Amino acid sequence: MTAHRVGIMGGTFDPVHYGHLVVATEVAELLDLETVIFSPAALPWHKTAEHLAPAEDRLAMLVLAMYETPNFVLTDVDLVRGGNTYTIDTLEDLDTQFEITYPDDTVEWFFIAGADALSGLAAWKSPEDLLRRAHFVGVNRPGHEFVLPNVTGIDEVIVVEIEDVDISSSDIRDRVALGQSIEGLVPESVASYISEHGLYRGPSA
Ligand code: ATP
Ligand code: MG
Repeated sequence: MTAHRVGIMGGTFDPVHYGHLVVATEVAELLDLETVIFSPAALPWHKTAEHLAPAEDRLAMLVLAMYETPNFVLTDVDLVRGGNTYTIDTLEDLDTQFEITYPDDTVEWFFIAGADALSGLAAWKSPEDLLRRAHFVGVNRPGHEFVLPNVTGIDEVIVVEIEDVDISSSDIRDRVALGQSIEGLVPESVASYISEHGLYRGPSA
């Protein structure tokens, strides 16, 4: 029997950027995680889908980004389930897959969230249940105060301080719409994908 320690990073990844990759890499190293599973949301319940790039594009860019971090993997459980994405469902699906793949092993999940995401946890679906089933890892993010939400079990959250990475997908979309460079913010392969597919050229969210 093996005890696995696995990170999960949920988001819209519209597009994936070095902020996501650096956060996952640092947390994996500090907490000794064997991998981090990136799970792109179908319809993030807390965002308007109006300006969301198609799932196939967000997924394709994640596939390209995964070449930069060969230890990490990608799951399409949220895209396959479709509809509004709730992290409690992500965990349920990953648990089911894990039991089928490693019936003799155990797993501890570490859900990684930036300060902005973590502070909104009280509004997520079944937050207490989530905190029972996964360790929550809160990571600092520039421009976002680190506020712990008022949820039972939150005192167990693992706080990880990393060097600030001032990158966001919104900023990247704005830059592309304005014709500015996004060099250094996303892997080169992702930047090429964005320009080849004409993503984010219109007015952004
Ligand atoms: P958007 O601007 O469209 O909301 P985003 O950059 O916030 O995009 P998401 O896909 O919404 O990216 O974020 C997924 C997860 O990654 C969230 O938990 C978010 O807090 C975290 N995250 C993203 N960028 C950073 C960063 N630079 N530092 C710390 N955490 C980050
Ligand atoms: Mg965000």
